[in-house]
Amino acid sequence: MLHEKRDGFYHCANCDAKLFSSNSKYDSGTGWPSFTESLPGAFNTKIDYSFGMKRVEYHCAKCGAHHGHVFEDGPGENGMRFCNNGLCLIFKPTN
Ligand SMILES: [Zn+2]
Repeated sequence: MLHEKRDGFYHCANCDAKLFSSNSKYDSGTGWPSFTESLPGAFNTKIDYSFGMKRVEYHCAKCGAHHGHVFEDGPGENGMRFCNNGLCLIFKPTN
């Protein structure tokens, strides 16, 4: 998942909702699949205070499965970094 380079879409492993385009995936060097943006309406977010930190947790808008945290240090225009659990994603190549 981390080293997937093909064109396609990343889906929720729990409910198959389409979450990310491969166009927004990049290598953040964290060891986690990272994305600059999600597909519109793919996720809901909430503030997560676990581990003594304030982070923004995001989860699948369809089934509620937790996918990761979003940080504001991304390389894209919007400055977002979606740090996703690779086990929560299924990749489906376009061709
Ligand atoms: Zn889901």
